[in-house]
Amino acid sequence: MKLSKDSLTSRNHAIPQPDGHSALLLVDLQNDFFPGGALSIPEAKSSFPPFNRYIRHFSRNGWPVLATRDWHPPNHCSFREQQGPQPNHCVQGSRGAQFHSDLVLPPGMMVISKGTQPKQESSSCFEGSSLEDRLEDLGTNTLFILGLGAPECLKRTVSEACRLKFKTVILTDAVKTGLQSSADSTEYFQDLVKMGGVLSLAEDLSIPTT
Ligand code: ZN
Repeated sequence: MKLSKDSLTSRNHAIPQPDGHSALLLVDLQNDFFPGGALSIPEAKSSFPPFNRYIRHFSRNGWPVLATRDWHPPNHCSFREQQGPQPNHCVQGSRGAQFHSDLVLPPGMMVISKGTQPKQESSSCFEGSSLEDRLEDLGTNTLFILGLGAPECLKRTVSEACRLKFKTVILTDAVKTGLQSSADSTEYFQDLVKMGGVLSLAEDLSIPTT
């Protein structure tokens, strides 16, 4: 799948550059969402270079990096055994719930768990988590988002971030939702822009490659 560059960046608008009031949000970079996992997103495998490039840039500059994780009890309501729609995944303490070992994660990274109660499904990274409080504590005004997840979950995360008045930048070369066609992906990213998000590629942020 090849997307046109224009569909991946808001270059004709001002793209905020990261600084001390920015935070990088890593969405669910857990084994179960990579190939071989319970809810695998096939194209996630090729994404380690961009994931690590953004993480390195933020951590080198001393800017905050926060990582969300699905962290479900074994009887979570989203599981088929509980009449939910999904196979068991990201069970607390399991290998599938761990962050992938090919990621270079900074020592001070903040981990935000979600979906931790049996009857609680988090439809966005903000729901039922401490994400909003952490960002407030950090004095964040611009949120840069990358990661893996169902299209709807990422969409709601962007929508919620915009509603909470964060400048919200979607790092399109490091967001994988499992959408199959480039037309679907283009439309998807355009929906995020309609919600108030800004699309960006690494080259728009002058992020070094090494
Ligand atoms: Zn889940």
